Amino acid sequence: MNDRLYGNLIFELSKAGRRGYSLPRNTFGSYEVPEGLRRQTDAQLPECDELTVVRHYTNLSNNNFGVDTGFYPLGSCTMKYNPKINEEVAALPEFQNLHPCQPADTVEGARALVTLLERSLCALTGMAHFTFKPYAGAHGELTGLMVIDNYHRQRGDLGRKKVIVPDSAHGTNPASAAVCGLDILEVRSTADGLVDLEHLETLVQQEGPHIAAMMMTNPNTLGLFETAIPQIAALVHGCGALMYYDGANLNPMLGVCRPGDMGFDVMHINLHKTFSTPHGGGGPGSGPVGVREGLQSFFPQVSPYHGNFAVLMRAYAYLLSLGRDHVTEVGPLAVLNANYVKESLKDVYELPIEGLCCHEFVFDGLKDKSTGVTTMDVAKRLLDYGYHAPTIYFPLLFHESLMVEPTENESLETLDGFIAAMRQIAEEAKNDPELVKTAPHRTPIGRVDDVLAAKHPVTTYKKMKSEE
Ligand SMILES: *Cc1c(COP(=O)(O)O)cnc(C)c1O
Repeated sequence: MNDRLYGNLIFELSKAGRRGYSLPRNTFGSYEVPEGLRRQTDAQLPECDELTVVRHYTNLSNNNFGVDTGFYPLGSCTMKYNPKINEEVAALPEFQNLHPCQPADTVEGARALVTLLERSLCALTGMAHFTFKPYAGAHGELTGLMVIDNYHRQRGDLGRKKVIVPDSAHGTNPASAAVCGLDILEVRSTADGLVDLEHLETLVQQEGPHIAAMMMTNPNTLGLFETAIPQIAALVHGCGALMYYDGANLNPMLGVCRPGDMGFDVMHINLHKTFSTPHGGGGPGSGPVGVREGLQSFFPQVSPYHGNFAVLMRAYAYLLSLGRDHVTEVGPLAVLNANYVKESLKDVYELPIEGLCCHEFVFDGLKDKSTGVTTMDVAKRLLDYGYHAPTIYFPLLFHESLMVEPTENESLETLDGFIAAMRQIAEEAKNDPELVKTAPHRTPIGRVDDVLAAKHPVTTYKKMKSEE
C-alpha cells in the first residue's frame, strides 16, 4: 500500500517553503492583536502544495465507512439512510444564521417548526408534550428520570429511589438512573427473551413504595416485542411508580403502535436514529423527552434553548418527506427486512430465540462452535467483504451476541449480498478458520489489540519524522 497515501499525517508530508493556499480578500479591515497575546514564534503548520492536501484528505475520507458508502447493520443504532434533503434543509441560511437570543417575533419560523415537530411526535407516540432540550438518547433518559423524580417529590413521596431495569437493557439505562441518584433493581428475562413477569411481581411486592419507575425498551434489545406491557404497566402503576419508555427502538413501531397507548408515562426519542440525522461519528444528536398530560411542569432545564436545533430540522424534513401515509411503512419494512435476513441465516448462525422478531435480531455466534471462530472473528471478516460489522457482544444475555439491524432502507439485492457474505464466512470458518481468525486482511489497519488500546491509550501520535 502506498504509505504516502495511507500512513502519513499531513505534518509528515510537509516540506519547508511549499505553498498551496489562497485566502479570500479581507473585507473586514484590520485588527491589531494586543501585544501580550501575540505569539513569539511561528505556528508549526504543515507546508504543502494544494494537490498533496487534496489527495491526503480525499484518501483519508475514503478510509471512512458510513451509511453512504455501504451496508451498516449495527444493531440497536438504527443506521438508516439520512436523505440528503435533510442536510439541505438544515443548512438553509435563514435558519442556520439565527441567534437563540433574537427577539421572538423575528424567529417565528423556527418556533413554528418546534411546535409542528412536537405535534407530529405527539401524534406518533401518544404523548401530550415534548421538550427538545436533551442532546442525545442518554441525556433524554436522565431528563425523563428527573421528570419522574420531580413528580414523586412534588407529591411528597420522597422514598422512591429505585428504578426497575430489565437485564436486557441498554447500558445507558442503569447509567442514567445512577446519574439521577437512583438505585437499580434488575428484572430478569425469561428464556423467551421477555421480561419475567413473576420476577417483576416479586420485585414490586418487596420494593413497591421505594420504586420510582420502570424503564423499558420496546421492542427490547433482542428485537422482541414485549407483549405483556399492559400487565407490566398495571403492576408498576399499581405500586405508584411510573413507566419510562426508552424510545431508541421506536423505528419498528412508527405508525403501527404508540407507547402512549401502552401505558408509558415518560419517554425519549433518539431523533438521530429514528428520524435520520447522521450519527455514526457520535453526534450531534437529540433526545426529546415526551410526557403524558400533567407531567410537563416537571421538565428540568438540561440545556439552553431547544437543544440541537439543526437535528430538529432534519427530523421535521424527514417526517414531511414521508408524510402521514408513508411514515406508517417504516416500521413494517424494517421488520420485514430483519426477519428476511434472520430466516436466511439461521441454519448456519445460532438463533437462541425462534419466532418473529421486530427490527433487529440477535445470533449467538456461529452454529458450528467446533471451529473456534468467534463472533469477533466474523465481525472482522465482514469488513473484508465491505460491510460494517454488526453490534457484537451486546446484549449481554448470550456469550457470542451478534446483533443485526438492517433498517427499512435496504434493497433486496443489498440484503442478499450481506446474507451471501455471512454464509461465505460460515463456510470459511469450517474450511479455513485461520483466515477468519486473522481477519481483516483488506483494510488499511488490521486487527487492533482492544485490551491494550483500552489499558494503554496512546493519545498522541509518534514523534514526527521530520524531527527525527
Ligand atoms: C442508542 C441507545 C441508547 C442511547 O442513545 P444515545 O443517543 O446514543 O445516547 C439508549 N438505549 C438504547 C436501546 C439505544 O439503542
